[in-house]
Amino acid sequence: MDLSIRNIEYCKGVGAKRADILRKELGVKSALDMLYQFPYKYIDRSRFYFIHEIEDDDTYVQLIGHITEWHTIGIGNAQRLSATFTDGRHTIELVWFKGVKYVKLERNVQYLLFGKPSRFNHQYNFVHPELTPMSKVQPELMQGLEPHYNTTEPMKRAGLNSKALRTIIAHLIPELQQQGMVDTLGMDLVQRYHLMRLSEALCNIHFPKDTPTMQKARERLKFEELFYIQLQILRQMKRREQNVGFSMPIVGKSFHSFYQNCLPFPLTNAQKRVVREIQTDIKSGKQMNRLLQGDVGSGKTIVALLTALLAVDNGYQACIMAPTEILANQHYETIQQLLSPLTSSPHHLIASSPKIALLTGSTTAKQRQPIHEQLRSGEINILIGTHALLEDTVQFANLGLCIIDEQHRFGVAQRAKLWNKNTQPPHILVMTATPIPRTLAMTVYGDLQVSIIDELPPGRKPVHTLHYSIQRRASINQFIAQQIDMGRQVYVVYPLINENEKLDLHDLTNGYNQLCETFPEYRISMVHGQMKAKDKDEQMQRFVAGETQILVATTVIEVGVNVPNASVMIIENAERFGLSQLHQLRGRVGRGAEQSYCILLTRVEMSKETRQRMDIMVATNDGFRIAEADLQLRGPGDLEGTQQSGLPFELHIASLSTDGQLLEVARQAAMEVLDADPLLEQSHNRIYKQRLDYLRIAAGNWGEIS
Ligand code: ADP
Ligand code: MG
Repeated sequence: MDLSIRNIEYCKGVGAKRADILRKELGVKSALDMLYQFPYKYIDRSRFYFIHEIEDDDTYVQLIGHITEWHTIGIGNAQRLSATFTDGRHTIELVWFKGVKYVKLERNVQYLLFGKPSRFNHQYNFVHPELTPMSKVQPELMQGLEPHYNTTEPMKRAGLNSKALRTIIAHLIPELQQQGMVDTLGMDLVQRYHLMRLSEALCNIHFPKDTPTMQKARERLKFEELFYIQLQILRQMKRREQNVGFSMPIVGKSFHSFYQNCLPFPLTNAQKRVVREIQTDIKSGKQMNRLLQGDVGSGKTIVALLTALLAVDNGYQACIMAPTEILANQHYETIQQLLSPLTSSPHHLIASSPKIALLTGSTTAKQRQPIHEQLRSGEINILIGTHALLEDTVQFANLGLCIIDEQHRFGVAQRAKLWNKNTQPPHILVMTATPIPRTLAMTVYGDLQVSIIDELPPGRKPVHTLHYSIQRRASINQFIAQQIDMGRQVYVVYPLINENEKLDLHDLTNGYNQLCETFPEYRISMVHGQMKAKDKDEQMQRFVAGETQILVATTVIEVGVNVPNASVMIIENAERFGLSQLHQLRGRVGRGAEQSYCILLTRVEMSKETRQRMDIMVATNDGFRIAEADLQLRGPGDLEGTQQSGLPFELHIASLSTDGQLLEVARQAAMEVLDADPLLEQSHNRIYKQRLDYLRIAAGNWGEIS
């Protein structure tokens, strides 16, 4: 019977009980699902080691040799057996702690030893190795690569360990070889990209005869995985391209007046290019879905404002949504200030300023009422706010554009709400300062058009980053004093992983008190997530206005805060921050003309990974390089920016950190298939459509909007 529909229960070595566990633990329902459980590692059973070749304690090895001597130590349960094994040149100790009385050793017998070396007192030994007299070794055991599978605790309890899975799969292989399997990729793709056929790949991913064959099989299955993800994403994009969008062809009075008379600085070439890309989108008659990536400080706000002005010129309203109140306030103030020359100008050729309003959680009911009314009447042109503007009571006369800042902070559902604020979905521009490695961008945001601001405004001095241990606190305090006496301001940031954790707050207030003691002559603000919005705002404002010299804060200041006079960022317990978070925090300084500094403080003792992270921060200011490093160090699942939204699919064999090139090829292949047949209606593309349905990677509402 076809393996894809054979119930796993009826496969040899399974049965009802184990089938139930396989279903629950691995989602395996059919024989085919079982074949898609790929090994996570192989042990090379064709290779024999010499003792002197052992160099790490992580891989299984096999040796041939004999035992020269053994003795037991201790009595009863504490008994231990120690033996000396030699390969003719060197010796190594073998140790048994358990079942000592069952271990039968003989002199003058050649043994095959199989086990994982461990390190003890700077020497390697084997604990509980497998010893088989050579005369009894089955020859097939010593061939090829032995697959090992991941299992879970409930599986192990039911005897479904790696070896059991290996046996179940081994039973399926002859059938697979005889019957073959309908390929999930068309012959044209298989040939063009020199891929293994599916049946062959499935046989060889489990029981490869050698490493090159195994790699070929892996490559084929990785390609398949990436291809289907891209097919799904690109199909979504094609569908979305069909969405009718509000046409905004006019570059009118507000845009022109602002651009010609009020720009406080010339735009960078990158900013100009992005504005042009957006212009092309919004006049096309289709709905824009664009991601704007730009490192911290690259100047996304002005691009957002120019885009909003275009919408206004075309008779539409625009909204700008930010993830925090601090950030929304700041956007409101920045934009109000930028637009103020328009308001005050008596010159009749200059447009009057568009009306803007701010709506956040702190907006009182009394303040809200006129805002609600003026949004409905169309009097307000640009609404700036937090997710308060998602509420159903917030209704627009004619919303044509939504700009979402720091988009990774919002959930999919929240963003989807914006779609329904008009009869037809408004244009969407999502902005992020968390650079995303290309492979991730192609998958997480693969259905969006991407614009990148890859140029910082001129005259910026790169932030100087230093890594110190807390033992150097005295000299750091000296440095703080020096900078403040030069007129600068200083951030001191504490990690607050969980806003409810008392312990974290304790660190923060402690730090604040100590700073107050050390620097009685300075004024110090403090901001954290548990403060009332009003108090937070007040503390923030004092720092922004230069009334306080030091701001002690948690990561609430991570995004968006702009105080050009601040030149020092001190990050306490830097080991507790992820790379992109550190980079975000560093982006708070270096915004003025002065040389700025970022000081990462850790304990003296730190893990290898922490050291790597600190080294990268010290070595580079390039957000994209940092994002790549983050991906390498932590894997895509943990990357900030995807944490909240999560990857929309699970990768079983391909990796976004190492298979970037294959991903490009798979995306290209998927693109070609869809370009020729967007709806996958042609008969030779039916396999793709069926497989997509089967995979159902279009899980939930992913893709409604990203
Ligand atoms: P981000 O991309 O992090 O949101 P902002 O929009 O907050 O960056 O801009 C950071 C700072 O750079 C602001 O003070 C802004 O006024 C300034 N800025 C933006 N574009 C330019 C430019 N082209 N030339 C000079 N300064 C600029
Ligand atoms: Mg910003």
